[in-house]
Amino acid sequence: MLHISDLNYEDLKQYIKKEIELDEKKTSMRVNQIWKFYYQKGFSDYNLFSNLPAELRNKLYNLLSIKRPLIKKKQISKDGTIKWLLELEDKNLVETVYIPSDTHSTLCISSQVGCTLNCKFCHTGVQPLVKNLSSNEIINQIMVAKDELDDWGEQKKINNIVYMGMGEPFYNYENIKKSVQILKDENGLNFSNKKITISTSGISPNIKKAGDEIGTYLALSLHASNDEIRNSIMPINKKYNIQDIINHCNEYAKKNNEKIFIEYVLLKDVNDSEQCAKELSKIMSKFPSKLNLIQFNPWPGVKYLPSTEEQASKFMEIIKNNGHIVTLRKSRGDDILGACGQLKTESERERRVI
Ligand code: SAH
Ligand code: SF4
Repeated sequence: MLHISDLNYEDLKQYIKKEIELDEKKTSMRVNQIWKFYYQKGFSDYNLFSNLPAELRNKLYNLLSIKRPLIKKKQISKDGTIKWLLELEDKNLVETVYIPSDTHSTLCISSQVGCTLNCKFCHTGVQPLVKNLSSNEIINQIMVAKDELDDWGEQKKINNIVYMGMGEPFYNYENIKKSVQILKDENGLNFSNKKITISTSGISPNIKKAGDEIGTYLALSLHASNDEIRNSIMPINKKYNIQDIINHCNEYAKKNNEKIFIEYVLLKDVNDSEQCAKELSKIMSKFPSKLNLIQFNPWPGVKYLPSTEEQASKFMEIIKNNGHIVTLRKSRGDDILGACGQLKTESERERRVI
């Protein structure tokens, strides 16, 4: 059955017009009413849509699902981070993480079950791609988190949405685009461009495209200062190398007028030398950027170690002395495997039985 969040505002209008045969004016009114009760009040039962006539509620019930996924497991870290394991209608499992802080709070959502890309330092990369999430499955992660936090109404307990969970958003481009449309729509979840960040491992053709069509903050998982190191830890670099990514990030920044966040996980004796910091400074000069250094979060079976604090400080100093903005991101939720790069579920692609 089609789900309401597989349709953006305009899609839903066309759908209602066609299926329920309302005139243009009435259609707009009804879509506004449906979106208000669904995305702003958070109702997931048509019986509660008291703004609609019963007949229409019945029709919608048979046409459009508004069901949430099941929470299979909920873990709360000692630092307040919450991780939910969600079971989708097709029984696949996906993780979503809420990261509160004193000033704001962030929800980290997944774009795929598993990932095709196999970056050597990332737990998700160990789980082969099972599937792309639909726009509905992406939005539903936010709906569940809002239910759980009782985040309906005027106040916003979730301030930022980051596409930094499982999977590569730009390998699920159309569904990501649709979900962002629903997120940004003021009749929808009503987040501004500046409250949404999409993180990519550097799928260059879609970086440029997203600049034209999606327009959120962009984070680039660079993690290396030259192609040799990047090839060895992120195989995707053999397809889209650093120069290629720089060119496309430039296009994105021109469109978007904002600095791009470079994500760089510090791996001991792999990418944390002073030489690397110098090379990275040069890359940073090539497009408007700021650097997020990330502490490496270990997971069962990984062969890398985090850089020492001393080495991380040296690295940071070099970047700063070259005139760039740099912050060090501390791990959050690592005791529940909820930190960057630690997400993974048990879902496997069904094997074909012959
Ligand atoms: N696939 C996208 C979105 C995932 S974002 C991307 O790679 O950008 C998850 C972020 O955490 C990425 O920047 C990723 O490189 C980083 N990461 C992966 N494994 C990590 C680990 N073990 N420790 C810290 N960060 C990690
Ligand atoms: Fe996939 Fe991103 Fe993990 Fe690489 S870092 S394996 S692209 S989720």
